[in-house]
Amino acid sequence: MPELEKVYNPVEIEKRWTAVWRERRVFTPDAGAGEEPFTIILPPPNITGSLTVGHALGTTVQDLLCRWKRMKGFNVLWLAGMDHAGIATQKVVERALLERGIAKDALGREKFLEECWRWKEKYHDRIVEQLGAIGASLDWTRETFTLDPGVSRAVREVFVRLYRKGLIYRDRYIVNWCPSCQTAISDEEVDFVETHGKLYYIAYPLAKGGGELVVGTTRPETMLGDVAVAMNPKDKRAAALEGAMLELPLTGRTIPVIFDEAVDPAFGTGCLKVTPGHDATDFMIGLRHKLDPIVVIDRAGKMNAEAGRFAGLDRREARTQVLAALEERGLLRKIDDYEHSIGHHDRCGTAIEPYISRQWFLRMKTLAAPGIEAAKRGEVAFTPERWGNIYLSWMENIRDWCISRQLWWGHRIPVWYCGDCEETIVAVDEPASCPKCKGAKLAQDDDVLDTWFSSWLWTFSPMGWPEKTKDLETFHPTSVLVTGGDIIFFWVARMIMASLEFMGEIPFSTVYITGIVRDTKGRKMSKSLGNSPDPIDIIGRTGADAFRFTLMMLSPPGQDIMFDESKVDVGKHFANKIWNAARFVLAQEAAGGCPEPGAKDAAPSPASDAGSSVRLLHESIFGSAAGPEAAFGWEDRWIASRLARRAGELEAHIDTYRFDEASRTLYDFFWHEYCDWYLELSKAAARQGGARAAGASATARAVLGASMALLHPTMPFITEEIWSMLAPRRGALAGYRFPGVPEGCLDDGLEEDVGFFMEIVTAIRNLRQSFNIPPGKLVNVVINCETGRSLPARLDGFREQIRLMAKVGELEIADGAAKPPASVAAGFASVEIYLPLAGVVDIGAEKKRLGRELEKIARECEKVEGRLKDERFVEKAPRDVVEQERNRYNEMSDKRRRISRILEDLG
Ligand SMILES: [Zn+2]
Ligand SMILES: [Zn+2]
Repeated sequence: MPELEKVYNPVEIEKRWTAVWRERRVFTPDAGAGEEPFTIILPPPNITGSLTVGHALGTTVQDLLCRWKRMKGFNVLWLAGMDHAGIATQKVVERALLERGIAKDALGREKFLEECWRWKEKYHDRIVEQLGAIGASLDWTRETFTLDPGVSRAVREVFVRLYRKGLIYRDRYIVNWCPSCQTAISDEEVDFVETHGKLYYIAYPLAKGGGELVVGTTRPETMLGDVAVAMNPKDKRAAALEGAMLELPLTGRTIPVIFDEAVDPAFGTGCLKVTPGHDATDFMIGLRHKLDPIVVIDRAGKMNAEAGRFAGLDRREARTQVLAALEERGLLRKIDDYEHSIGHHDRCGTAIEPYISRQWFLRMKTLAAPGIEAAKRGEVAFTPERWGNIYLSWMENIRDWCISRQLWWGHRIPVWYCGDCEETIVAVDEPASCPKCKGAKLAQDDDVLDTWFSSWLWTFSPMGWPEKTKDLETFHPTSVLVTGGDIIFFWVARMIMASLEFMGEIPFSTVYITGIVRDTKGRKMSKSLGNSPDPIDIIGRTGADAFRFTLMMLSPPGQDIMFDESKVDVGKHFANKIWNAARFVLAQEAAGGCPEPGAKDAAPSPASDAGSSVRLLHESIFGSAAGPEAAFGWEDRWIASRLARRAGELEAHIDTYRFDEASRTLYDFFWHEYCDWYLELSKAAARQGGARAAGASATARAVLGASMALLHPTMPFITEEIWSMLAPRRGALAGYRFPGVPEGCLDDGLEEDVGFFMEIVTAIRNLRQSFNIPPGKLVNVVINCETGRSLPARLDGFREQIRLMAKVGELEIADGAAKPPASVAAGFASVEIYLPLAGVVDIGAEKKRLGRELEKIARECEKVEGRLKDERFVEKAPRDVVEQERNRYNEMSDKRRRISRILEDLG
């Protein structure tokens, strides 16, 4: 007979099963299989990263869904992949090289890329290991990297198709520039940070003398690149300034006064300095007025030659010096404090510099339209729903996407320029010669594509697109996308657009957005705050199952998770409970239900033929019948009925993404109903031996087996280990098709009766507890039922189990039974329960104790009452404090009444 180790050792078990699952290819689906497909693509982790608690949460949700669907008989593909993460990787590799004293530019493009690939190999393996440790049932045989040749081809194909459609264009335009990373970035990569800044007022004298205009600016150093001062045409001063020229201080240049509707007359002085080279709004004004931009800051954030004597200074130092020079000339009129938001690069935190450069852009409006329609028609649904509105409002206001990056690590832009005739050649494969002049002097565009330009194809490029593959046919569109809300624009929205454009269908029907993991103080977990534990450390200490269960239990949909490692104790204790219960059941089975010598204190319920539901369950779980000699009692049929009901609830919770409720359902069922009630009740049958013992053992085993299946998606390892002992011939639980709990197990009437029985046992236990009666000590109990409700008959079948579960010696159940002297009572519905205390506790001492408690409560009550009568307190104190006092008063009054009654009872 197989036996579980005495002590549950998650680390050993989890390592072993991770290897077994991979070896047996349990998670590799066959595209040709006939079952209904269910597909999830793993949001490809960045190869620079290591997994966070947030990743563990998202991974667990995906794994739970995949394992659940696999068990339900779906053909499940959970596609593994990783992202090259353009800027992020380039930055870390650059930094690592610098630490070795090697500059990227000195190394050259080819050698630098070799370094990046070496980095990728190393960190790739670590991520695979981490995902394995969490228990992710990913298909690694289909693993894809965003720079794989197949994906690369798809990226080039998409670029060329969009270019030919006129949606991709190249333009000199003002973009968000990161002077530290020295690349353009997209609008979505800019984080706005509220900043205490200054608004500087600078006077520009009129060229013909006799006055000046004062402009307000947060960036005085850019005045060196001003090309005009703009006013709103409705400004009262406008007429007098028609055609006026201004002296631009510190430069010797004169610039015109112009009029533009974009100028807010109420902002500052109503005069706006126009710097098209360094501000996006000014750039547009410049275009409207045909003013050539003057660029005074270079790619690295330093002043260039156009800045005259300020050339070579960093932009911050230039600000100080420009202000000093203006001050000296008496042109700095005043400085105000000013709160404004400044864009920062989300990867490196550097303040963005609007910068004019030649970049590739993708027109998004055309692509967005079908994506808006699909969401409005409900073809793509967001959970929680509010994300749908966030998505729509972004899509409806979408702007062109700057897709070129001045980096090396990434997909090189598939564009070549002819050195002879300057022709631009856009092609999937490298051209051998110029199609126009036949020249061979071709140079490829130096830039690479934004990382998201490969990620947005992620539902179909890893499946072999543009070829028509079996995988695409079977697994696309995918089913659910599980991801964080922070990449809804970067990724989710763009995937919807790409799939509609290139596959002609939605990429997924549901988007599930996970909550943000915060510490117990509500702060987002981050490395810099040091409040983010490493999930791998947690798993090393408690096991992945405990961690996963806890994450799911803490995860109400649409809300952030307050996480603290101590919370994992819930999962840890639960895993231990499961382990011990399984050991108990296996041991009981091994003992063959032999009666313990001398155990005759409680006779189990009479055997009945009504155990057919349990037989059905046993057969459906294990594929083998419970022994024909087995006889079943009401407790067996009851636990089978509860199992069926809980399984139904669980399914409903998972279908609606209520993972917290799902975990609670599993927990309550297994811990309370199965362990606390059923296994305790089954001990009597086991002691009886023979057919009843066999029936109880078969039931315990079948319900345990079904529980392992239901728990498996949340706690895959421990359930697999126990399953391997319970059903060694059924193969891995991870690949098991769970037939479900037969509907025939449900028995409403029985559940109601047993519920009544449980209430009675609980009431007796509570009475015992409030009088500190030792757990093993037998007490006598009288149950008085209201007459005419035939309750005594209904309870009669539970008589022995009441005695067993509540440790009752003599039990009297009768209509209108009298209350014995010196007894305490508890009542509910239509029964009164009396527990005589004589000979059980020292009544004299008990009365003294209660008398003292009553006095104490009376004093407290008076105090609180006094406070509540004080009108000043009730008026002045915060409302919740008053409310709290009232509740306390009510609680204490209740207790006072209860104790008084007990004292009366004790005579
Ligand atoms: Zn940067
Ligand atoms: Zn040419």
